[in-house]
Amino acid sequence: MKRVLVTGGAGVIGSHLTDALISRGCEVTIVDNLSTGRIENIEHLVGKPGFHFINSSIMETQLMDELIRNCDSVYHLAAAVGVKYIVDDPLQGILTNVKGTEIVLEIAYKYWKRVLFTSSSEVYGRSKKVPFKEDSERVLGSTEVDRWSYSTAKAVDEHVCFAYAKKGLPVSIVRYFNAYGPRIDQRGYGSVVAGFISQALRNADLTVHGDGGQTRCFTYIEDTVAGTLLAGEEPKAVGKVFNIGNDRETSIIELAEMIKEKTGSKSKIVKIPYEKAYGDSYEDTMRRVPDITKARTELGFSPAVPLEKGLEKTIEWAKENYTR
Ligand code: UDP
Repeated sequence: MKRVLVTGGAGVIGSHLTDALISRGCEVTIVDNLSTGRIENIEHLVGKPGFHFINSSIMETQLMDELIRNCDSVYHLAAAVGVKYIVDDPLQGILTNVKGTEIVLEIAYKYWKRVLFTSSSEVYGRSKKVPFKEDSERVLGSTEVDRWSYSTAKAVDEHVCFAYAKKGLPVSIVRYFNAYGPRIDQRGYGSVVAGFISQALRNADLTVHGDGGQTRCFTYIEDTVAGTLLAGEEPKAVGKVFNIGNDRETSIIELAEMIKEKTGSKSKIVKIPYEKAYGDSYEDTMRRVPDITKARTELGFSPAVPLEKGLEKTIEWAKENYTR
């Protein structure tokens, strides 16, 4: 039985990844401090054979040493995520995302364990050259703008991964593009999809930031998990980074309209200035689109769930789980 450690396993992606690993017959240990992760995401697993949950932080070096020594591979997802979260507490974000990843990699190197590091499409910053390829340039704003600290932290982490890979550590990296699906947090942390669905189900205004012309490529959670497993298991993925996302581009205003229509909501779609949502220290990425040729050709990754279908499944779940 393969023993897998999933850091951040109580998060949205982590918990779905854990479900997939358990259904493949792996023994899975999750370490999560429930900062943005939620016990509700994993309570269906608690008590099942082969599943272990440790409510602690990846900053606990001694604990991490023991956990990594006792596993065969590590999926490192624990991070401070969500733009709003980062803007609200940049220091916490930087410490968790840089120090935490260094701890995981250093110990994985000591015990020579395979690592899959989860990075973000944020690393591309506000580059206008879409679609983003893995070797595209990164374009970031000033360090006075807190938002870019997340991109910078994830990029430092990637550099550390590549540096360990040069020393022989079997490590691979994925860059996620706006994952969504059941379990996305109603508070909307890091997910406009969650925020809009929650608003729509309450018939509250759908708050589009700016003019809503900014675009994202929303990736259904099953596709995100499939790409993660491929990159985590494929021997040829070692030492490489892959974009994992759907490459269909959707504007935020279109997304709002789709969610309003699919929920049958009476909500109004309203435009609010960015400053009102995030304060002054904010700059948005206007288009974010992955080039997924590398993941397609080298991993056989192929996103399968169209936005319409994924939104329907997510809305169905949210109707049962969101408080009104
Ligand atoms: N957004 C919005 N209304 C909201 C929340 C987010 O218009 O209530 C916008 C946000 O400004 C950004 C996009 O939706 O342009 C995606 O935001 P999200 O927080 O989902 O993730 P990001 O892609 O920015 O990391």
